[in-house]
Amino acid sequence: MATASSKPISDQSDLSSLKGQLPLIGLTGGIGSGKTAVSDQLAKLGAGIVDTDLIAHLITASKGIAIPLIEKQFGAEFIDPDGALNRSKMRSLVFENPEARKALEAITHPLIREETNKQAMRLAKEGVPYLVFVVPLLIESGTWLGLIDCLVVVDCPEETQIKRVMHRSNLTRNEVERILTAQASRQERLSHADMVIENQGSLVDLETGVQSLHQKILQIQKEKTSSS
Ligand code: ATP
Repeated sequence: MATASSKPISDQSDLSSLKGQLPLIGLTGGIGSGKTAVSDQLAKLGAGIVDTDLIAHLITASKGIAIPLIEKQFGAEFIDPDGALNRSKMRSLVFENPEARKALEAITHPLIREETNKQAMRLAKEGVPYLVFVVPLLIESGTWLGLIDCLVVVDCPEETQIKRVMHRSNLTRNEVERILTAQASRQERLSHADMVIENQGSLVDLETGVQSLHQKILQIQKEKTSSS
């Protein structure tokens, strides 16, 4: 099992123990900007992907580890008959009620963190050249910026985001606009970016940008290795 350094990686250690061992890349962008499209393409090129949004969905899906805790805190009416979180009901509640949002996050965040750590450790042990953490609210969270080596922002005009999200879900324009307003602005996100992936064209256009991003990250790793 090749890792980028000879330091041992224990399953118990937290993410900061991976710092310096392989590049830790944060990937963020607004709703519908194309984070999943980018991470899917990076995965095909061999990157290790840890998608915190996917993890959040898994723990709140049917039989997910967060479900009994959510049911206890919020009541059975927030759980669908199949045992999954009723997302639209919870979304409405937490939009109106900051205390409820805090209570939900107090349940989900530690579980997401634990699973994120596990997946990152496992991928690092497998010898991926770098790790990409897909974090929708990376800028807003405040905790990720100190951990990652490089922040990649997926960017497109807000109107494109709205159209894509409306196309893929049953959310109305108003609902999507409300989510956009609750997230960091496009400008704020871009001001933190080390690299920007433009995703305004086709998925084929996106591939060109993703391949160049992959090469740049490998180059950073190469330069680091040769200077150490
Ligand atoms: P979210 O934050 O909501 O999870 P995301 O940033 O991960 O979204 P994606 O899921 O990758 O965004 O993309 C949103 C939708 O737009 C998807 O249906 C995806 O297939 C589509 N999409 C993404 N990029 C493009 C593109 N360049 N051309 C056409 N469709 C695209």
